[in-house]
Amino acid sequence: MMAADTTAVVQKAQKTHHTTKVCSAALGRLLTAATFMGHLLKGKDDSVTLRINGGGPAGSVIAVGYSNGNVKGYIQNGDTELPLNKKGKLDVGGAVGKDGFLTVMKDFGFGEPYVGQVPIVSGEIAEDITGYYATSEQTPTVCALGVLVNPDKSIAVAGGFLIQLLPTAEDDMIDKVEKCLENIEPVTTMLAKGMTPEKICRTVLDGIELEVLGEYDTEYKCDCSKERVEKALLTSGKEALEEMANDPITELTCHFCNKKYRFTPDDIRRLIE
Ligand code: ZN
Repeated sequence: MMAADTTAVVQKAQKTHHTTKVCSAALGRLLTAATFMGHLLKGKDDSVTLRINGGGPAGSVIAVGYSNGNVKGYIQNGDTELPLNKKGKLDVGGAVGKDGFLTVMKDFGFGEPYVGQVPIVSGEIAEDITGYYATSEQTPTVCALGVLVNPDKSIAVAGGFLIQLLPTAEDDMIDKVEKCLENIEPVTTMLAKGMTPEKICRTVLDGIELEVLGEYDTEYKCDCSKERVEKALLTSGKEALEEMANDPITELTCHFCNKKYRFTPDDIRRLIE
């Protein structure tokens, strides 16, 4: 089991993208999933990209997780506002939509990346992550993700947990875990009470003996650089670059951190060569 307090991560994402409440919840939930899935990767430079595109008004939501636990993310239409759903909650499923796929791309720094794609279950994100693990990785998984947003759009708390059963888990253990999950509070309630991730693990799996295997920090951090932007520019083809060389200045903005990169016609001509 893994649990995380991603409040600072989602606060930074909200400030970077100026997201509305429902969009902060959608992006924050996906970022929280990405910190778990990134950390589960083995190699130092491995990363996982989660993209959920359900045809809803918020558009695509993307989160990238790295094996060191850091994440970055982006939501296409972060200014989307929706009324609360029937349960009185932020309507993440409505913003994301259900008509599409959750795509998981694992990049191991060499060779072809692993790509898994599953149909969206609800667009509420946690159920979609569970669906991905069940279908693509045949791993029984329980996932809870939550973001509590203040009336002024700032983030009160955010976090989640992920429980995965080993293929060797005995029925008796599966029953115990299921029993534990029957009466748990929402993860945002636990975080708002000041519970640490370890306390959340011990509260959720009450009665099951737990050993702490490790702790790690998670931060919203973009790894863009002029070199990376140049590489991306090169994929747009010679013709597009030649057109750019006619502009007095070409300015590109990183989707994840809003950093601006400027290219002069000389820069562009150097790339063409
Ligand atoms: Zn960036």
